[in-house]
This record gives sequence, structure tokens and C-alpha cells, in this order.
Amino acid sequence: MSEPVEKKLRLATTSLAGCFGCHMSFLDIDERLLELLPFIEFDRTPLTDIKHCGPCDIGLVEGGVCNAENVHVLREFRKNCKLLVALGACAATGGLPAQRNHLDLADCLQEVYVTEASLSRGGIPNDPELPLPLDKVHPIHEVVKVDYFVPGCPPSGDAIWKFLTDLLAGRSPKLGHGLISYD
Ligand code: SF4
Repeated sequence: MSEPVEKKLRLATTSLAGCFGCHMSFLDIDERLLELLPFIEFDRTPLTDIKHCGPCDIGLVEGGVCNAENVHVLREFRKNCKLLVALGACAATGGLPAQRNHLDLADCLQEVYVTEASLSRGGIPNDPELPLPLDKVHPIHEVVKVDYFVPGCPPSGDAIWKFLTDLLAGRSPKLGHGLISYD
């Protein structure tokens, strides 16, 4: 990558109904993170202590949408990020967590919190602080417009590096052979 730019691109990331594996893969770009730093600054991410997404150039979203808080955060990202990116299989399709879409939500909660004796601790949680689960797990494009999809569970560090460096160079991101996977 070339000389530091005058204005850095501001980057936000979040994990909705994700497992943080896509973020771990982002960190898998390893020492190249240091090469990125002259070109980007972080807004809200699990790596910073910023609580709300402010105006950003790029928002990377890991995870599908499984509860009311996910919807709120996703809309905040869409409102503030010029480019919104579905990072990984969960954001793009709902991923493995969407397997629960074949089941009845009330049955799932009953099974986990009431029927399963080893987990039972006074019934289904109902504290108003807890976000209400949605009936189904949704890919993020069913809630907001998405500009780019980076497939994989997770996408490799190399794929994320190529994607970001293409964007930083002002190119349309192209992952190409060897960087696209769906597992
Ligand atoms: S796509 Fe895979 S690695 Fe990424 S959040 Fe979903 S389950 Fe985790």
C-alpha cells in the first residue's frame, strides 16, 4: 500500500447474531493490520469502546438478525455508513443460526429454559432489559439495503484484506479465485 492519505476512511464493525468468528478472521490479516492503520480509523467496533455508530465510510456487519436489538443496531449502521457490507454467511443468509427457522420459537425457549432440567433456572427469562427474539433469523438484506457481500464462514483473512484494500484503492472489490468460499 502507498503513502498515508490525508483523510482516513472511517470503519465501523458489529456482530449481530454472529459468533465473532468473522471478526477473528478480520484479525487474521495479522501484521497487515499495521499497514491498514495509516488509511483507516475505527468507529464503533468490538475493538473500540465507542457505543454508537457515527458517520462512517464503511460498515462491516457480521451475523444475521435474530432479535430486536439486532434490528436497531443494523438500522443505525445503515443510516451512518456510506457502504454497508454483509461479512460472512450469517449476515448474507442467516447462516447456521437460521436453522432454528424450522422450529417454533416458543418451543425452543420452552425446551432450553424449562424442559431441559440441567439448564432450568426459573423459566423463560422475561427481564425487560433483554431484547425480544424474532420468530425467525433473517439475513441483513431483508432489513436494510446491502452494498457488498463477502461470503464464507468465515471469509478468510486474505479475502477480507483483498476486499478492504480494493475499497481503499478506490476499486470495486473483486475477490476472485481462491478467496471466495461458502464454508
Ligand atoms: S459467518 Fe461463520 S464465522 Fe461468521 S459469524 Fe457466522 S458462524 Fe461465525
